[in-house]
Amino acid sequence: MTTTTFSSTSPLDGSVVDTFPVHSPDDVDAAVDRARRAAASWRALGFAGRRRVLRAWRRDIVAHLDDLISLVRAETGKPRGDARLEIMLTLDHLAWAATHAPRILRRRRVGSGVLMLNQHASVGYVPYGVVGVIGPWNYPVFTPMGSLAYALAAGNAVVFKPSEYTPGVGAWLQRAFVRAGGAADVFAVVTGFGPTGAALCRAGVDKVAFTGSTATGKAVMAACAETLTPVVIEAGGKDALLVDEDADLAAAAEAAVWGAYSNAGQTCIGIERVYAHAKVYDRFVEAVAERTRELRAGTGDDATLGPLTMPRQADVVRAHVADALARGATPRVGSVPGAGTTVQPVLLTDVDERSSAVRDETFGPTLVVNRVASMDEAIEKANAVRYGLSGAVFSKRRGRELALRLRGGMIAINSVISFAAIPALPFGGVGDSGFGRIHGTDGLREFAYPKALTRQRFPLLTLTTMRRTATVDHIVERIIRALYG
Ligand code: NDP
Repeated sequence: MTTTTFSSTSPLDGSVVDTFPVHSPDDVDAAVDRARRAAASWRALGFAGRRRVLRAWRRDIVAHLDDLISLVRAETGKPRGDARLEIMLTLDHLAWAATHAPRILRRRRVGSGVLMLNQHASVGYVPYGVVGVIGPWNYPVFTPMGSLAYALAAGNAVVFKPSEYTPGVGAWLQRAFVRAGGAADVFAVVTGFGPTGAALCRAGVDKVAFTGSTATGKAVMAACAETLTPVVIEAGGKDALLVDEDADLAAAAEAAVWGAYSNAGQTCIGIERVYAHAKVYDRFVEAVAERTRELRAGTGDDATLGPLTMPRQADVVRAHVADALARGATPRVGSVPGAGTTVQPVLLTDVDERSSAVRDETFGPTLVVNRVASMDEAIEKANAVRYGLSGAVFSKRRGRELALRLRGGMIAINSVISFAAIPALPFGGVGDSGFGRIHGTDGLREFAYPKALTRQRFPLLTLTTMRRTATVDHIVERIIRALYG
């Protein structure tokens, strides 16, 4: 049994928000065992029964909205408005997963082909059993819910390990689920640090859904490899926004500023780089600079950006800005942040493409804007990083073409980050941004395995017999030649 505890502290004032157990590997094993027993009755509820509980959960979250907003603000430091927006988007996903699971996952008939005309073929989607969900702190409601809601709607029990920075939000979501009539073991929460997450990977869960940094994603995958446990990895990004010569510059500047600085830049799908066409570059940079100067990071209620949630992230921001400046970048707004976690927005232009501010995830309120001579150059530079999560294109004529050429799992044309708010769209990346999908049809199917069935309706050309005659082989050959010759 666990005896040690840890506290989550608020980035706003350092106060203790709450204290939680550091769950040991034995505790995690026990939670997974209980979840496995509970999974059977959750699955037996069927789509309609689960939808009732998930809808009640959604209503409960709405009924206690202010309480959750305050807790998200306390644990992450983000402004109340950002916390509210995050929860609104989450509710949409919860509703979508519950409503659409039956249509997407129920057994459906598929064609059986000419040679197997006598077979009735169908595919259905079977829940894995128990899914381990490991989540980050930056959007402690929205991000894990992309796995939790979809895994539960698909019929799995889940054991959730929230980030050590936001355990309170994880525990709150679980209490709301129980208030809504869900069984405590169907959606269980274990708390602690990295080792608790590592224990979850080794606790015999049937699938792991990880959201976090690329480095930790590799550790999770290595742990899961020991037992061939399948994983979804939603890792970081270095997303780019492209501005074409015919773009609506005011809209593009607004989007770049929101994409870069909202949530203090701690957004996996945040905009960290912009490539703007030389013909509009100066005007675009001026528009971005003007809007950036309006922003103020702080801990008060009037601040547009909160402090950074994770203290060591401020060191990464300082290092990236310093490296860019050392390589000749121009600091258009702000400069190397001083000590502390309240980081004012930084706008850098003419940044060397080899600098860490261009190549590595900064995860703070910084934006790099570089000039390109053509949109081909913009695509080439945008695609030259290891990450491939998402991106945005502002162009009147070439939006679709450029979006299709931009590397990443999700691209917005003439807006930014909007795909995350459309529950029907899959969410996920390629390369160092991970693999697998949450959200949408793909997200539901990520948490169930396809099970094929075929039933013989009447005897026809039976191919699977040792007593097959030469006549049968001859007929098959004639069919094949007629069809494919
Ligand atoms: P981390 O990778 O540090 O942690 C993510 C989670 O993994 C935390 O719960 C952490 O626990 C846990 N963990 C740490 N070590 C291990 C381990 N060895 N085995 C299993 N679990 C472990 O990420 P952050 O929390 O710092 O989140 C920020 C990152 O998340 C950024 O890179 C961001 O881009 C990415 N992200 C990606 C998203 C996407 O959908 N693609 C969405 C949101 C964020 P603990 O906190 O207790 O150490």
